[in-house]
Amino acid sequence: MPTMTESPPGVSGQGFFLTSLEKAVGLARKNSIWPLPFATSCCGIEFMATMASHYDLARFGSERPSFSPRQADLLMVMGTVAKKLGPVLKKVYEQMAEPRWVIAVGACASSGGIFDTYSVLQGIDKVIPVDVYVPGCPPRPEQIIDGLMKIQELVEKEPLGWRQSAQYKAILAQYGIE
Ligand code: SF4
Repeated sequence: MPTMTESPPGVSGQGFFLTSLEKAVGLARKNSIWPLPFATSCCGIEFMATMASHYDLARFGSERPSFSPRQADLLMVMGTVAKKLGPVLKKVYEQMAEPRWVIAVGACASSGGIFDTYSVLQGIDKVIPVDVYVPGCPPRPEQIIDGLMKIQELVEKEPLGWRQSAQYKAILAQYGIE
């Protein structure tokens, strides 16, 4: 008659948990996003309010703004981007290590906003891929937080091999980024 051995503590009953590496990595990444504020005009002021004590972006694990692209994984573009600034923005994006995400905060970053002129980039997605667009002129801090939470959802659900996939490389290739 075969006998069953006792399960070691922690593998069954109270305290038992099971997950996949993908979910564990997603959870860690989601709650430790380091934003790089690329603020060129008024929407940047809303970001300052979002970081300050009342709205407190630190609650989402993002209390460490990075002004170095190499130590950031979320590019937050806030404000009007002139066409002359486009190559600079692209360079900043290229200097960020994978995995990296981008939010266009406000009408100007998303579409050029009210500045439909020869000198203004009509949306940063003309030079870099964008993950989340936050509408408004300017968006309130609650909207910026909502945009960050949308990024968190993307980060949490991202498959581990996505950055090495042909699909992702094809998206970057559209922007001339290798
Ligand atoms: S969207 Fe409005 S508030 Fe934001 S940078 Fe443009 S003009 Fe300023």
